[in-house]
Parts: sequence; structure tokens; C-alpha cells
Amino acid sequence: MSSPIPNQDQNFDVLVIGGGINGVAIARECAQWSKRTLLVEQNDFSSGTTSRSTRIIHGGLRYLEHAEIGLVRESLRERERLLSQLPHLVRPLQFLLALPKKSRSLRRSSLAIRTGLWLYHHWAGGKRPPSDDKAAFEQQLDSGNSWSIYAYEDAQCEFPERLVAEWLTESVAAGAVACNHTELLEITRGNGRVTGARLRDRISGQEYAIHATHIVNATGPWADTVIAASGISTPRMIGGVRGSHLVLPKFTGAPEQAIYTEAIDGRPIFVVPWNGQLLVGTSEVADANVPDNPQPSPQEIEYLFQSFARLFPRSGLTQADVRYDFAGIRPLPFAPGKPSSSLTRRHVLHDHTGEGAAGLLSVIGGKLTTAASLARDVVRKLGVDVPEPVNVFASPAAEEDVESTVRQWARLVACKAKIPTGCAEAIAEWHGRHALAIAHAASLDERLREPLCPHSCHLVAEAVEAVAHESAVTLGDILLRRVPVALGACWSEECSREAAHKIGRALGWDQSRIYLELLRLEEEREQFLHPRHGQAVNPKPGCGSPVRNVQHY
Ligand SMILES: Cc1cc2nc3c(=O)[nH]c(=O)nc-3n(C[C@H](O)[C@H](O)[C@H](O)COP(=O)(O)OP(=O)(O)OC[C@H]3O[C@@H](n4cnc5c(N)ncnc54)[C@H](O)[C@@H]3O)c2cc1C
Repeated sequence: MSSPIPNQDQNFDVLVIGGGINGVAIARECAQWSKRTLLVEQNDFSSGTTSRSTRIIHGGLRYLEHAEIGLVRESLRERERLLSQLPHLVRPLQFLLALPKKSRSLRRSSLAIRTGLWLYHHWAGGKRPPSDDKAAFEQQLDSGNSWSIYAYEDAQCEFPERLVAEWLTESVAAGAVACNHTELLEITRGNGRVTGARLRDRISGQEYAIHATHIVNATGPWADTVIAASGISTPRMIGGVRGSHLVLPKFTGAPEQAIYTEAIDGRPIFVVPWNGQLLVGTSEVADANVPDNPQPSPQEIEYLFQSFARLFPRSGLTQADVRYDFAGIRPLPFAPGKPSSSLTRRHVLHDHTGEGAAGLLSVIGGKLTTAASLARDVVRKLGVDVPEPVNVFASPAAEEDVESTVRQWARLVACKAKIPTGCAEAIAEWHGRHALAIAHAASLDERLREPLCPHSCHLVAEAVEAVAHESAVTLGDILLRRVPVALGACWSEECSREAAHKIGRALGWDQSRIYLELLRLEEEREQFLHPRHGQAVNPKPGCGSPVRNVQHY
């Protein structure tokens, strides 16, 4: 069973449909403002676009070009808030903007670029001067091409899945009911306004109805599908644009910074250090299909790899080294005839009152970075006078305090669970303060202290906590999103098998459940990431973990 199924005909102030970062942020904000809130997600929380993004928490340097000053400033404020509120998950990251001298972007003068970067830095509080260390990167560049390189700073959330899990826990603590594997079948209406919904638990197959005064359609690229299934006549809202990524191994001499550059056709792309690997993306291809299983095309894989190879001609990597590829659909506003690069990344709230569905709002667009401010906007639309939080521009000293707090959690975890400090750091980086409860559970039971697989730092206790407190239901929920070791560099079917048995034993699953969960996990991994088979031949220590120095006692 997914999660606590509300009683048939139960009443809610707000039903939020869709458990990506936006839906979870909205449910959290609603619950914190004392709205009786139900959140439903057809698969698992953050399994949609949220886990298929580039995972950068950014002001959006590119939006400056489109003069979206308001969006850039809002995003920078939100970036700073996330850095200070979730320091274990959202971390500063140095970027290098690398433009080939023959670039079409260099129609802008160097002065214009420097001015843009100066504004970007100062709107974010101007506290951390970007590191100007370009040497490692310059060594890798093709000497036949001449590049202009500029340093700036943004941030990264390597695992938005974990951020969503934390916000989900906060929503439930504030009184929200959260059900994953629960599909909205139809929004019900009467007298021109919404009355509730029909839902189906996808695991048990049970269907039921609930009442809700307000409904928020936060289904990202599915927004039109949900509206159409409910028979509401709304002009098309979403113009889906597929963005694909490649995951490559980190080659010797790869720069520590993220690189923001031009692809072979002049479009902007990123090469970002991620999870001990390199994330390269994205493409931008119009895609109007139902977004259940977006896939990169062979042309997009070729395009991304060629763009990477032009930037790093000495990496020694070939296309055969691609470890994973995955795609997501950007839920951009439908604007036929307009290039997607020119469309705003600002969210829009569509009110369906004029379409016979008063009380229903649909979310169009948005970014990981601005999910919390989007949530505040939604709750304001529901009539709550939500104040704008004070600006947080933490000083470098405050950031060091935060770093030392995370290190302190790690020390306590190491001591309590009797595991090496490197592993305790990995656990603290994913679970923050909650790592202490995980360490406590691990200290009480030998089985919970076992690593999920021999070359991972992460423990069975984390999986058990994910089921107990973070609404994880399936093995995929656990290993891909709550304890996302299965996104690691050398995770293989072998690792899945070992983890399934250890987790199954700890949770009391019988052999047939373990087998079924394993089968479904491997299917999901295959559909999402397309792992290249054989990559686990030489599993490296520390794989499946962002941390080094793995020795299990
Ligand atoms: C390729 C790519 C790269 C990106 N990179 C970045 C980045 O680096 N930084 C950044 O800030 N932003 C980035 N974004 C944007 C960001 O990822 C998205 O804006 C954000 O994840 C959207 O979240 P969401 O909650 O609206 O949608 P989703 O995460 O897609 O969540 C919607 C959920 O609704 C559920 N759902 C659908 N139908 C139903 C139903 N009938 N019943 C119940 N549930 C349903 C789905 O299963 C899904 O989980 C990127 C986007 C893409 C596509």
C-alpha cells in the first residue's frame, strides 16, 4: 500500500496533484498555513521532471540576456535561501563561462558579459568572489580554438530527490496527508467549481473519492493531460520541450568547476561535476508526447557527446564511455512559433474559474530553484497573506559555521553508528540532522549497520528510515530517490540484488516480494537511465556515494 489512504469522502481544504518539487513545496506551504492538505503523486515523489533536471540551483545567467531581471533576482534570492536552509544538500559551485572566440554569443562584448556577471554577483549579496582558477580547464581546451573564459558562482543540489524528501517530511509534520503511487483519475465539479477528485491507489488498485475546496494541478508536463481527463475545456497550457543529459566518467584532469559553454550549434549547455561523474546537458527538442517516459534520441546523444568532445578534446573519452543518459520534459508555456530558448522560465498560475472550475489552479513552468517562492504565490492565491521571507545573504563566515555543523553531525554519526568518518559524512550530506536518528537506529541493530552493497557507504538503516518516515514504498523509491545510491558511478544489477536482499530482510519482505521489487527496480533503472551494461565489472570503492575513503569495519 502506498501511504495512509484518506477515508472515502474525506474533506480537504487543498488537494495538490503531483509530487515533484513544486507539488511538494506547495503542499508544505499549505500545511504550514494550517490548510488541511492532501498531496497525491501517481508514481513516486520526485520521479518526474524533478529527477531529470541538471540539478543546478541558479539565478539563471542566461535569463539576463532576455532581460528577465525580476526572475534572475528572485532566483538568486531563492538560491541563497536554499544554501542557508539546506546546506548539506545545496552547495556553492564555481562555474566557468567558456565561449569560443568565434562564438555567436560574442556578438555581446566582453564588457557586456563582465557587467552581467558583476550584476549577477552583486544581486546575490556579493559575498563570495568567484575563484579565478582556470588553469586546469585551460589545459584541457583545444589549442586550435580560442576561448574567452569568465568565472562566476552558482550552486548545485546534486540530489533534488533528497530535497523533496525533506520538504515532504516537513509537510507531513505540518499535518499534510501525502500519498505516492496514487493517481488522480478525475477532478470532480459542481455548479462551476471543483468539489474534489476521484483517486486510485496504483498498488492496491483501490479507487476512492475525496472532497476538496481548492485543487492545485502541479503535474508539470502532465498539466494538460490531467485537465483533459477531467473534461475541463482549457486552451493548451504546456509546450513540452525535451532536455537530455549524458553521464560520463570523470576523466583525469577534468576541472572541478562546472562549465557553462556553447554546444556545437551555439546553444548553451553545461558540463557539471555530479555524483563523482560528469553531467552533460541539455538538448532542447519540442516533445508533445505524454511525458510518462521521455527518452533521449540517438541524435541528442551524439549532439551532446560531440559538444563535450569539442570542449575537452584531450579527455580520452569516447561515446562508448557514456554511463547513463536520461531526459526530462520542461513544462514551458505553450507558445506556438516561438523558439523555446526565448520562453520565460518564470512560473505562471492558470486560474480555471472561467472554464467552469473555480477553485482550480494549474502551475505552468518553474524551476527547481524557485519552487519555494512558487509555493508562496500559490498559497497567496488561496487567500493567505503570506509575507515574503527576509533576504538571506549569509556571510562566508556563516557558511563556514554551517559546514562545520555538517561535519559535526558526521562526527556524531560516525561515533554513534561505529562507522568510518567518510561514510558518516556521506550519510550526513544526504540526511542532514536526520542522520543522527539513522545512526541511532543503526547502533541498535547489526543488520541495519550493514552497507547496502560492499562498495557503498550507505546503510540499510537509511532504507528502513526512508520507508518509516519518508513515504518510500518500493525498492525503486528507496534506491533511486531516498537513498539514491543507484544513481552512482558503478551501481550494477549485482548491487541492486544485494541491497534488495538486505533491505527486504530488514523490512520483513518475503522472497517473492524481494524478487518482484528487484525486477521492478531494474526495469525502472533501465527506462530512466539506460545504464550501459558491463559498467560494474570493476566496481570502484565509494561508488554509489559522494564520498571517498570507504572502509567498513
Ligand atoms: C532537462 C531539464 C533540466 C532542468 N534543469 C534545471 C536546473 O538545473 N535547475 C532548475 O532550477 N530547474 C531545472 N529544470 C526545471 C525543473 O526541473 C522543473 O521545472 C521542475 O522539476 C518541475 O517540477 P514539477 O514539480 O512542476 O514537475 P514534476 O517533477 O514533473 O512533477 C509532476 C508530477 O506530477 C505527477 N503526476 C502527473 N499526472 C498525475 C496524476 N494524474 N495524478 C497524480 N500525479 C500525477 C508526475 O508523476 C510527476 O511526478 C530542468 C528541467 C528539465 C526538463
